Amino acid sequence: MLLDQLRADLAELDARSLRRIRRSLDTVCGPHARVDGRDMLAFCSNDYLGLAGEPALAEALQEGARRWGAGSGASHLVSGHYTVHDALEARLAAFVGCERALYFSTGFMANSGILPALVGRGDAIFADRLNHASLVDGALLARADLHRYAHCDMAALERALAASEARRKLIVTDTVFSMDGDVAPLRALLELAERFDAWLVIDDAHGFGVLGPEGRGALAEAGLASWRIVYMGTLGKAAGVSGAFVAGQAEVIEWLLQKSRTYVFTTGAPPALAHALLASIDLIESGTARRAHLAALIGLLREELALERWQLMASRTPIQPVVVGDNAEVVALARALWDEGLWVPAIRPPTVPHGSARLRISLTAAHTEEDVRRLAQTLNELERRA
Ligand SMILES: *Cc1c(COP(=O)(O)O)cnc(C)c1O
Repeated sequence: MLLDQLRADLAELDARSLRRIRRSLDTVCGPHARVDGRDMLAFCSNDYLGLAGEPALAEALQEGARRWGAGSGASHLVSGHYTVHDALEARLAAFVGCERALYFSTGFMANSGILPALVGRGDAIFADRLNHASLVDGALLARADLHRYAHCDMAALERALAASEARRKLIVTDTVFSMDGDVAPLRALLELAERFDAWLVIDDAHGFGVLGPEGRGALAEAGLASWRIVYMGTLGKAAGVSGAFVAGQAEVIEWLLQKSRTYVFTTGAPPALAHALLASIDLIESGTARRAHLAALIGLLREELALERWQLMASRTPIQPVVVGDNAEVVALARALWDEGLWVPAIRPPTVPHGSARLRISLTAAHTEEDVRRLAQTLNELERRA
């Protein structure tokens, strides 16, 4: 029976410490959260600049709703595209230094739309093994040959490119890896893309707003520009709202507008969101103090943590993972932190490779030094007792 099988599959998730639980928050997004009736200090969100709960942004959203109503009414190419969407796209393109941008409803949709629009059967996609799930799914939807190279291994990528006889090639990578916090070697990737005449698609979900001058992202930080780079940034993380965008050479963006099925065949995102996002980009651009505070907190955490058994990974971004290894052990550790009023997610396979279960600490500009010290001291103490 189908249902019996499904029940057995669920029981197996429990047996392997792989069942995930969903918690309900009763407060605005921020470090101090009321969660399932408890007051917690949270290190979970991707709200790196602390904008999701920013009153000025909530005000902009209300203003947007008063001006534009609640919904768009149709897909962008029918009648669901508004002048405020144009204004947002122009602002985003200029902000990241590209000719044109296209606004998508979510990052998952952007990624699963871009790859099939650019390549197909008979082509090849070269993907970092640790890329986000949406890029993996996008590659599968494209039906191109998929080569997954070892994480940030440029020699392996070069060999795979050299061996390929595909008509068209596309390299795709996260900039900041979401479960490791490290940053892809973008300059080396662009050199390989040029040498082997490939597209280079970069997913800056965790870099946009955080990295580079004024938070312009990983591309601006690396000082790179090329018609062959297709830049994807998301707007639900540091930008504090929702959505995503793809930026690049004008013809590339026009092609994506024509051919991305996740753009063409979906209702346009509410124009009120675009209005709020314009305010968010202003806050990002003028957010130097927020980024400086965040950088100080990252330094403080790395200084205060004194772990031996568990391993703090090398990372200069707000994503600071502590590798524990075993699934059950990481679940017990997250539970012990929870009991101390600290909420840090335990990340297990298949999100990360087997044997590398970890705590994923994420810091935001809304945290205080005291918050970070409390986390570090509690973790140090728990390791001593383990
Ligand atoms: C979050 C994330 C996405 C998906 O973006 P959403 O807007 O949340 O759908 C894509 N890529 C990476 C690397 C991400 O971390």
